Amino acid sequence: MAERVIIHVDMDAFYAAIEQRDRPELRGRPVIVGGTPEGRGVVSTASYEAREFGVHSAMPAAQAVRLCPQGVFLPVDFRKYRAASERMMAILARRASRIEQMSVDEAFLDVSEKVSGFPETEKIAKAIKREIREELKLTASVGVGPNKFLAKLASDQGKPDGLVVILPEEAEGFLAPLPVSRLWGVGPKTAKRLQEAGLKTIADVAAAPIEELRRLLGAWGQVAYELSRGKDDRSVEPAGEAKSVSAEETFPSDLHHVGNMRRVLAELSAGVARRLRSQGARARTIGIKVRFGDFRTITRQTTLSGPADRAEALRRTACELLDGVDRGDQGIRLLGVRASGLEHGLGQLSLFDERAQRRGQLEKTLAYIRRRFGPEAVRWAREASRQRR
Ligand SMILES: [Mg+2]
Repeated sequence: MAERVIIHVDMDAFYAAIEQRDRPELRGRPVIVGGTPEGRGVVSTASYEAREFGVHSAMPAAQAVRLCPQGVFLPVDFRKYRAASERMMAILARRASRIEQMSVDEAFLDVSEKVSGFPETEKIAKAIKREIREELKLTASVGVGPNKFLAKLASDQGKPDGLVVILPEEAEGFLAPLPVSRLWGVGPKTAKRLQEAGLKTIADVAAAPIEELRRLLGAWGQVAYELSRGKDDRSVEPAGEAKSVSAEETFPSDLHHVGNMRRVLAELSAGVARRLRSQGARARTIGIKVRFGDFRTITRQTTLSGPADRAEALRRTACELLDGVDRGDQGIRLLGVRASGLEHGLGQLSLFDERAQRRGQLEKTLAYIRRRFGPEAVRWAREASRQRR
């Protein structure tokens, strides 16, 4: 396999940094996004000032309040963060053709075919940092390495506002002193199992016989063995593009008036159009779904003269389709709008709901594990992933 060069970009305290950017009075103060000052909810992001108090993401807000009573608690403003995310991903798209978005503020770039080696990649990494700083007024940490595992470790190492390059020949030396918990897929429970067996650092894992790792970790032992030597052949996989976008609504009591049905179709169309645009997609085909009071369900669809991504075009088409449905005197229990035949704009990245994206990421990882190590390893990995959450 030819030498690969991978870049990992990860924004620093993303949500909190956006709030501090937009509200200068919050700069230098412990900002905690997600959760309320009364201690309800969960911390989504803590600014670096708040982290000094031990506050971190996924922590119950009640605990964050106890650790940092002077913290500024802010609600999550997804629209704002999503807009920043889209601009960040657009910057990355200028620099690499193969991009795998891992979450709202994190992505891998495979630049192997664009660069002649690591020095040139470092220049790209610097340019990405500069563009993010200038265009978004935010900082990112960037890691460069011969694979995803090392690139991500590199960006972590430099946080915040870092740039760390791990050359292939430096990999083992870089990994050696790190705790086993830094291995991909090793959660707290597994880390403990390794530590109890006397394997505390990655160097210990690298020196352990493969049979012992298999005994401790099952099929995952093989992965740990390779990772500890800096080997990771996972490829950077751009997200699959959605084939359709749809929304539907079931009503508490059946609808009888066409005006109400039209109003619902308008709302559903607006939601579908918004999601189309966030994915940089336009639809050639619009469909509706109608479920009657007796649960009989029909669908109708039509192809537009040109692709659309605007609520008004979707709404008009959906209402025309509804007009063509013989409703008799039946009430309607559910209405849906579906956009398909999608055309994706060039260089546009799909940006799904963050949760869905995480879930997709986990499924992708599990599929990889199943391919390489069989179903037993999948069970193991699911357990490891649960421990992490
Ligand atoms: Mg981040």
